Amino acid sequence: MSPTPKSTLQTLLKSSTGTKVQACLLESLGTASDSQIEALVELLAPLSAQAGVKMHCVRCHLTYTENKNHSSACKNKHDDEGNTEYETGNDEGITTLNCCGTSFDSEDSPDTEFCFTAPHTTAEDDVLYYESGNEDEDGVNTNVIRCAVNGCAKKRKVAKKVGNKGGSASKKQKAV
Ligand SMILES: [Zn+2]
Ligand SMILES: [Zn+2]
Ligand SMILES: [Zn+2]
Repeated sequence: MSPTPKSTLQTLLKSSTGTKVQACLLESLGTASDSQIEALVELLAPLSAQAGVKMHCVRCHLTYTENKNHSSACKNKHDDEGNTEYETGNDEGITTLNCCGTSFDSEDSPDTEFCFTAPHTTAEDDVLYYESGNEDEDGVNTNVIRCAVNGCAKKRKVAKKVGNKGGSASKKQKAV
């Protein structure tokens, strides 16, 4: 059985990187006919629907849209809790962070800026929060707090009153 155009396309899309597919489509748009563009707009309708829905991440408390979400979109900083051990006669020690066990020179800052990255999420069940139940445990980042603790609901109401300023509106989105 010879491959159909559909299966050839499926294979091509699955084996190419997202960046290459995006670049190729952007390039081709330059010379595309109206009907080709219409077809593509239709095919990408789910994506454009995602782009229109602002979501709130319950881990890092940023506004995001699902079409931009990816495995390291949600960046979480280390917390400041840690222990520093000094060798006798040396005033530079080794600090080990409680959040993830990263160690570094006490005079320095950690090699990695972020404690961990993840996709943004709206599901609190996906998030390991720092709260009374687990606050003694290692590996829990004190920056990871619930929306209620962070005061998100309040902030969002205020933001609505002043209109569309700030937040994701300040990030310009390129029209494709
Ligand atoms: Zn996030
Ligand atoms: Zn950390
Ligand atoms: Zn929040």
